[in-house]
Amino acid sequence: MKILVPVKRVIDYNVKVRVKADQTGVETANVKMSMNPFDEIAIEEAVKLREAGVATEIVAVSIGMTQCQETLRTALAMGADRAILVETAAEIQPLAVAKLLKAIVDKEAPQLVILGKQAIDDDSNQTGQMLAALLNWPQATFASKVTIANNEAEVMREIDGGMETVAIKLPAIITTDLRLNTPRYATLPNIMKAKKKPLDVMTPDALGVDVTPRLKTLKVVEPAKRKGGVMVADVAALIDKLKNEAKVI
Ligand code: AMP
Repeated sequence: MKILVPVKRVIDYNVKVRVKADQTGVETANVKMSMNPFDEIAIEEAVKLREAGVATEIVAVSIGMTQCQETLRTALAMGADRAILVETAAEIQPLAVAKLLKAIVDKEAPQLVILGKQAIDDDSNQTGQMLAALLNWPQATFASKVTIANNEAEVMREIDGGMETVAIKLPAIITTDLRLNTPRYATLPNIMKAKKKPLDVMTPDALGVDVTPRLKTLKVVEPAKRKGGVMVADVAALIDKLKNEAKVI
């Protein structure tokens, strides 16, 4: 079974993100970039499935600038077998990502696509769902446990107020939640080996996909600064403030 894992290059989660002075977006110059954490979990799950003898090949895909090759090399060092970069300098929104991934699924015919539930830069939480719709495949989002048997995936999902277990027929889409696994670190020997693994580069044009953005960003602003808090003497004083100052009750 072949598994496709889309991995996005995003600002590292430890970086304090700053808005550009002209409010057109966030500062990315000289900022540490890494693989989206949920995509590391997706790669880890695919590697575990290969180690368990369920999967035979893992293909990592990234869409974006030339530098996404670094993200793909990390995926290869974690255990992916080969990689595909869809290279573009254009702004790529989730619908365009889903269309490009569909074109790659049509070429590669994987049985499973494991994506992150969301990219931590745009927090869209859309790509997996859109890809499932475009392919007309079943989807199980927010996975915290995955078991594959008899051409079916049994997925425990994190939902509001608890857990839900669903069974979906393959081929299918799964998106990862935080508690699915703990991704491994790439070891130095594996980082060296990853340099020799195949990495194909293609373009949106070659895949016949129009990636024109459908959404326009008007402006990006910093969240309002938090004002200092105050200690109240007792519950009565708290209720009074909530009623008369905050006017929330
Ligand atoms: P989003 O819908 O943008 O929150 O992203 C959800 C998931 O889609 C991510 O965790 C990735 O697995 C995948 N994805 C989104 N954008 C890209 C991209 N540019 N390249 C590769 N995968 C992506």
